[in-house]
Amino acid sequence: MQDKAKSGAKSGKPPNLIAGATGDWEVVVGMEVHAQVASNAKLFSGASTAFGAEPNSHVSLVDAAMPGMLPVINAECIAQAVRTGLGLKAEINLTSVFDRKNYFYPDLPQGYQISQYKSPIVGEGEVEIEVDGEAIHVGIERVHLEQDAGKSIHDQHPDYTYVDLNRSGVALMEIVSKPDIRSPKQAQAYVSKLRTILRYLGTCDGDMEKGNLRADVNVSVRRPGDALGTRCEIKNVNSIRFIGEAVEVEARRQIDIIEEGGTINQETRLFDAAKGETRSMRSKEEAHDYRYFPDPDLLPLELTQAFVDDLKIGLPELPDEKRQRFVREYGLSAYDADVLVAERENAEFFEAVVSMQKSGGRDGKLAANWVINELFGRLNKEGEEISASPVSAAQLGGILDLIGNGTISGKIAKDLFEIVWAEGGDPAEIVEKRGMRQVTDTGAIEKVVDEIIAANPKQVEQVQANPKTMGWFVGQVMKLSGGKANPAAVNEVLKRKLGLE
Ligand code: MN
Repeated sequence: MQDKAKSGAKSGKPPNLIAGATGDWEVVVGMEVHAQVASNAKLFSGASTAFGAEPNSHVSLVDAAMPGMLPVINAECIAQAVRTGLGLKAEINLTSVFDRKNYFYPDLPQGYQISQYKSPIVGEGEVEIEVDGEAIHVGIERVHLEQDAGKSIHDQHPDYTYVDLNRSGVALMEIVSKPDIRSPKQAQAYVSKLRTILRYLGTCDGDMEKGNLRADVNVSVRRPGDALGTRCEIKNVNSIRFIGEAVEVEARRQIDIIEEGGTINQETRLFDAAKGETRSMRSKEEAHDYRYFPDPDLLPLELTQAFVDDLKIGLPELPDEKRQRFVREYGLSAYDADVLVAERENAEFFEAVVSMQKSGGRDGKLAANWVINELFGRLNKEGEEISASPVSAAQLGGILDLIGNGTISGKIAKDLFEIVWAEGGDPAEIVEKRGMRQVTDTGAIEKVVDEIIAANPKQVEQVQANPKTMGWFVGQVMKLSGGKANPAAVNEVLKRKLGLE
């Protein structure tokens, strides 16, 4: 095969390369995602983690770093980190160590962050993503536990900065990927998949707007096949869209510098979404700048295998397995299954619709169609989540049963869906009360067909010359029957009466 990268030919180029003025480049991305642990209390104190409280109202003496206060590990945060590790198919380290990462910042009263350095609680794992039909395994390097810092508030007063310690000491999981990501799209797919997994596990709510999940994005560029280039870290990117944009503009910035003969400085940068650019924050510090050492207030954390095994048994079905099962059990397309499993609540709603069977079970494909197109479509229009759906799984299932047993047509079902959405009620009762039953009575359909044939001799001539124009007659019958005629019966009667059989 011809080496396209070297020849510079445009066609057949691997899709992830970026064209520069002097040839193709490859972008290499690794992520450090900080995910706030779902827990009522902080990592080393009993203070609340509730969001949006009065500043400095959820601060224990430990969080405020009063002299002599000792941290006590919150067992639930440990369990959450282990669940996360198991969900990422990672090794769980039965011994891990908390270290002090020393730096000064006004919202860090301890003067150090308690984190994990050489011995994290979770080791190597992986996340599988799919981009443009290609499955990619993104390696997980490690997951460690650490404290969040407080928050400096600069915009309350022109002369002062305020400090809110409510977040100080809240547990974070730092999930570090390997540099296995090769495009902005893959970077987005990775964080989005990670978020889905954490939400399934219930270990982080994934709320990026509240900052409960934020990504530090490490970007470098190189010629295909070369060693890794110098990377820049883009700090705290807080939306999936911005992650894609940040990778895109940072890769382009680095390519331009190198092509103009410059070199990349390893540094920490900020993504400015409004300007669509990254800006230098500070030159990147090295690990030794932090003077890590094991926290003398905390013993090494020792877990038993039984503790880990118990958590493993309690894990829910994860999105990849659920997707495979939906394809296998319900005959869904991979695409539909993907859409349904992206949120656990959506998947559970679908399964409730499809499994509440009155007789013989419901058609999985039909149910997926209705959930994705009608229900999600309607919810999106209203800006609502599935939890606020006015149509319950039982009601939607009831509508599908009426389609399945021929009581109503698909078209009438859409009207029925709108009625249930707006007014509630039992779908079967609504159909009876409002006379929405589909007419399958051949006699009644024949009467309508006879009328139409008598009134339209020209169309009859036409359809007998060209049977493909029969759709016009079907339309007329449906119109006269108020959409209630059974389409299969209409077709049968029309063919017979028009002599098209
Ligand atoms: Mn960190």
